[in-house]
Amino acid sequence: MEELLKKLIETSSVSGCEENLRDFLIKQIKPYVDETRVDKIGNVIFKKGSGRPKIMINAHMDEIGLMVKHIDEKGFIKFSPVGGVDKKILPGQIVKIHGSKKIVSGVIGFKPIHVQKKEEMEKIPKIDEMFIDVAAKKDKDVASLGISVGDFVSFSPHITKLFGSRVCGNGFDDRVGCLMMIEIVKKLKNFKGTLYAVGSVKEEIGLVGIRGAAFGINPDIAISLDVTIAGDDPYLKPGESLPVLGKGPALLIKDAVAIVQKNVRKWIEGVAKKNKINIQYDIMDNGATDSSILPMIREGIPSAAVLIPSRYVHTPVEIIDMSDVKEGVKLVSLLVKTAHKYFK
Ligand SMILES: [Zn+2]
Repeated sequence: MEELLKKLIETSSVSGCEENLRDFLIKQIKPYVDETRVDKIGNVIFKKGSGRPKIMINAHMDEIGLMVKHIDEKGFIKFSPVGGVDKKILPGQIVKIHGSKKIVSGVIGFKPIHVQKKEEMEKIPKIDEMFIDVAAKKDKDVASLGISVGDFVSFSPHITKLFGSRVCGNGFDDRVGCLMMIEIVKKLKNFKGTLYAVGSVKEEIGLVGIRGAAFGINPDIAISLDVTIAGDDPYLKPGESLPVLGKGPALLIKDAVAIVQKNVRKWIEGVAKKNKINIQYDIMDNGATDSSILPMIREGIPSAAVLIPSRYVHTPVEIIDMSDVKEGVKLVSLLVKTAHKYFK
């Protein structure tokens, strides 16, 4: 599974530029399903099985990134954030600009500490004070590389093995969900109903893609696979975020937009208990995921989110425990198999 996660991380997929990851998912999943289609806004929808209930699982394909906004006469590139980018962690990062000719590497530089004034050392830089430097000599060099305004910029991919089954990388949000979706669809046999597996676009900029996909599919039950904030690093106070690494997938009870329906919660708790899968609870004061918007689609789609705890979400050093991913795959596969008893 770690090898597949590495390949997913290496396939960049900034919101609005998800084609490469979509092609990768199609390559992985298509042989295991009855139907594969890409809808008008770029979601990929895989279909397996037939009849009711219609069960939808989804993972968002997109990740946070940047966009080229302006190129000055010296060839330095101003950028706009795409999704929830934390400006504090931008300086020092290596980025990849997806230009018309090729992918061009660049860096986000910053004023060296030797020449910073005392007050500058304390202050957080503003995004409009930063530039991407591709080390060109002038704007014409940048143009000759095929870079122009509106190009997508991704963060340089990496994945590193840490203690035990824990790994560190960027873009786990939501390649981890994509990984789970691949594993579930590949291995799932003997279930009643139709499984729809959706790779959704533009979650990071406002849960955009899943709305149309869910409207079209009109599922009886839907589960989103994503990451959540692990509360076990020293930067968070106890209780600030409930899930921790290594104690299993988290069921999202409440977020800024939604509260899980009682019958959906009961079903998931029951399946987990019966199969001795430890689940954690997540209660988020801010933020939301694709499942959050689904009760507001059509006449309302019952939904849940199964989330993998991750430290340092939306930074280049997210940390997850692969044991949570394995348990998450097990849980969601069992949920698909039991959905017919609860949802019609
Ligand atoms: Zn996410």
